[in-house]
Amino acid sequence: MNAAVQPTVVLAGLFAREFAEMALPWQAEEVPNPRLLVLNEPLATELGLDPASLQSSEGLRLLIGTLVPSGATPVAQAYAGHQFGGYSPRLGDGRALLLGEVTDADGHLRDVHLKGSGRTPFARGGDGLAAVGPMLREYVVSEAMHVLGIPTTRSLAVTATGRSVRRETVLPGAVLTRVASSHLRVGSFQYAAATGDINLLRRLADHAINRHYPSLAEAERPYVALFQAVVTAQASLVAKWMLIGFVHGVMNTDNMTISGETIDYGPCAFMEAFDPATVYSSIDEGGRYSYRNQPVVAEWNLARLAEALLPLFQDDQEQAIALAVESLGSFRHHYSAAWSAGMKAKLGLPVGLASEVVSPVVDELLTLLQEIHVDSTSFFRSLSGAARGNAGPVRGLFLDLAAFDAWLKRWDALHPDADVMDRVNPVYIPRNHLVEEALTAATEGDLDPFKRLLDAVRTPYEERPGLERYAAPAPENFGAYRTFCGT
Ligand code: AMP
Ligand code: MG
Repeated sequence: MNAAVQPTVVLAGLFAREFAEMALPWQAEEVPNPRLLVLNEPLATELGLDPASLQSSEGLRLLIGTLVPSGATPVAQAYAGHQFGGYSPRLGDGRALLLGEVTDADGHLRDVHLKGSGRTPFARGGDGLAAVGPMLREYVVSEAMHVLGIPTTRSLAVTATGRSVRRETVLPGAVLTRVASSHLRVGSFQYAAATGDINLLRRLADHAINRHYPSLAEAERPYVALFQAVVTAQASLVAKWMLIGFVHGVMNTDNMTISGETIDYGPCAFMEAFDPATVYSSIDEGGRYSYRNQPVVAEWNLARLAEALLPLFQDDQEQAIALAVESLGSFRHHYSAAWSAGMKAKLGLPVGLASEVVSPVVDELLTLLQEIHVDSTSFFRSLSGAARGNAGPVRGLFLDLAAFDAWLKRWDALHPDADVMDRVNPVYIPRNHLVEEALTAATEGDLDPFKRLLDAVRTPYEERPGLERYAAPAPENFGAYRTFCGT
């Protein structure tokens, strides 16, 4: 091979070095026949990696962890977590590895991480593998979230391994190369706290402050400030999910980041008709992680983070609890403020409009939407037409026109700005039926539908001719959507 195209990547190995208690050095499994399915070239460039060299055979081996750059130490990270409310003291990366950290174009550290790279000592009963479909799902959904302005981990590449993965059927295997501002989770702090080693907990909190909230190092109570920052970041994140109709599906505490990025796209999906009780995950029988429960669950998870951090807040436990309660209490305020501001924008209403005026308009609309079972993405996008004097398309979605017309009149009297609406209400999102279609084809070896879908969702707000089917709701026969956790 031409030496000029050999990829170079410098991985800092910071977490591996500083948190040996929570980082198990481990190797990715060899794979029979690596083949690149998709590479995120702009992201590679942002990370200082040369996209062309990543496509060489050495580059592919870097992307799946079978070639370790000199000096790097891939590790499986240890973490704990509440899964569906039940505590597991030792989860950790069962099929994932942190390769190390790179410095991006803005000078920030970013984790480079693998999913589906083989069993680790945290694998429990799992096979350590991942299938092409779910890894491409994470790729397309995370990239869509990113362009929609929703903080998220990113996807650098999906590489088919040439190895079969046994699920309900036998599926082609793949490795996802994921990039995150860090993989620190609520569960990481639960794990550190459970060791009883307060120095480890403190070092982990200092590390989180350094990486994500550096100005807080100067705060009077840096650890309370860290907790408050996570509360604020998660309130804003979950409000963004709710505004776009994103259902994460598995909001366990190990799947909630300290950075405020969305992480671990498993049984996630975008809501079609507006229905607060929406659940997609086949294993979520009680609806714990339904659309409407997401803010409540986020708050519950943050309470678990507070419990873990408590020893750092104050020596006096009662005072420590009082500080935690005070910060956690701000979640609802931050969440409501983010939701209301987002709803104002979706409806094109002036930023300064009083909430006493906006709230009833929003509440009434959501009640109407719930009654009519129309696709909510299509509804919000077509509503801007009404603000431009063309109410026909949006009215066409309703059967009970009397109720909707009354609402339209009230809303229109508030002088909605259609351009503001078109900047926040997407035309293209990864609609469930399109995602399924793309993943099914990819599993059978045809990547074209996936590439077309990825292309459509990359420019969510700009309507393009020829992409009509990507803007259309699911066909009637698509039925009730179900997603699966065993990815
Ligand atoms: P998740 O629900 O994907 O966030 O995963 C929860 C836990 O299960 C984590 O500790 C994962 O590493 C582990 N896990 C999930 N799938 C597998 C698998 N196929 N093999 C080994 N571990 C897995
Ligand atoms: Mg997880």
